[in-house]
Amino acid sequence: MIKKILKGLLLLLALVTAVVLINTFRFSKEIPHKQALPLTAINDSAVQHLSEAVQIKTVSYADSLPVDTASFLQFRKFLETAYPLVHQKLPRQIFNQFSYLFKWEGKNAALAPYVIMAHMDVVPVEAAALDKWTVAPFGGVIKDSTVWGRGTADDKGCVISILEAVEELLRQNYQPERTIYLSFGHDEEISGTRGASAIADWFRKQNIHPELVIDEGGEITVENFPELKRPIAVIGVGEKGYLSFQLTVEKTGGHSSMPDKETAMDILAKALVNLRSEQMPFRMSGPVEVLLNRVGPGMPFGERMALANQWLFKPILKKEFEKSHVTNALFHTTIVPTVFNSGVKDNVIPGKATVIVNSRNLPDDPQGDVIAFMKKQIHDDRVQIIPEKVNKDASKISSIDGAAFKKIEDICYQVMPDVVPVPYLLMGGTDSRHFDDIAKGVIRFAASIDAKGYHGIDERLPINDFKRMIFFYSLLIKESGTENNAKPIEVKKS
Ligand SMILES: [Zn+2]
Repeated sequence: MIKKILKGLLLLLALVTAVVLINTFRFSKEIPHKQALPLTAINDSAVQHLSEAVQIKTVSYADSLPVDTASFLQFRKFLETAYPLVHQKLPRQIFNQFSYLFKWEGKNAALAPYVIMAHMDVVPVEAAALDKWTVAPFGGVIKDSTVWGRGTADDKGCVISILEAVEELLRQNYQPERTIYLSFGHDEEISGTRGASAIADWFRKQNIHPELVIDEGGEITVENFPELKRPIAVIGVGEKGYLSFQLTVEKTGGHSSMPDKETAMDILAKALVNLRSEQMPFRMSGPVEVLLNRVGPGMPFGERMALANQWLFKPILKKEFEKSHVTNALFHTTIVPTVFNSGVKDNVIPGKATVIVNSRNLPDDPQGDVIAFMKKQIHDDRVQIIPEKVNKDASKISSIDGAAFKKIEDICYQVMPDVVPVPYLLMGGTDSRHFDDIAKGVIRFAASIDAKGYHGIDERLPINDFKRMIFFYSLLIKESGTENNAKPIEVKKS
């Protein structure tokens, strides 16, 4: 009997091993290697323009604070001077004083337009972080073949690249096949309600449904997948939701010399501990699933085997991905406290404690589910959960089989040798979400490589990246009317 069972077990083990190996082998199909086109030279003035753009402090502080009118006006003047042909030849509409929409009429009116967008405002530089910068944040310093300063990576690099590409094509008297709109918002960093949202409203009213909207978001990375030894273009096809909740507990306070067993602060603190003790479900689906399937075949054997056999290794993969806060956020809806408020004096027990909790939710976890999860975790009716009015669930996901994604994929191959384009979901928000319901495809991508200093210290953009970005937009415009045809020649791995 025991012999029979052993025999059966051995057979099962052999079978599982065979299936695992076959799956791994099948998964090992090489990712195509493609040769890009050589980067074209840019005008000498281009780098100077980016530097100048950085020096104008178009800072968005807070929704409640007035716009720095002088800076935004100065920025408009700068654009008009730096890009005369754009301003001569393309009609400009102004939205809420400082956001702009340019229209470049295409030859073929039957084609739905493209919208190429970027934002002109930047986040402030923290006073406390000033001495950590190696350059003046608004100096527009050019050194080490790099332009330094607030906005170079987010998102003036894109604004200037787009305009450089268009100005040059206009100089050559070029006319695109398809109508191209250039959309520049002035308040992305404070939710884009006056800029991109107003511009999207205009499209809605005109009943114009763009074929493609492209905004900031993903980029090319070599640092995030070192095992692959190839650059990966992470192309944003959607973004997580942005939800905030106020958690409040009210309980009569009093003198700190005679405290109750439990205070409002105690209850709230316990609620937070419970809330944070577990995560919402691990979800290996949507764009992230496609991403793993595309990079998987290039990974070392162990990783490849695990990714090819998720039916068996999912628990191990889950554990691995949850180790890093970055990958964890790709597979989970996150929930974290960000503002804590209670108390006025050291000897007074406050009667009220509140905390703001911020959640970035996956498309599969809409707000209602997030609230239900929080209630279940907190398990205490004394804690009120109030959602903020501006809460927004995850965006729509643009199909990777759609024309928009395919076009960007195609251009990626042309601007970066040997690149592997993959779809992914942005963890932050961009202006492009305002176009979600009117465009056929919304893509978040710029052709920089591992840009540094987003919202942080020593923000900068290497001039070579800047060149590639200009090239990217220029190709996108020139190929707006053509079918996708992955032009670069496939080459054998050297
Ligand atoms: Zn940005």
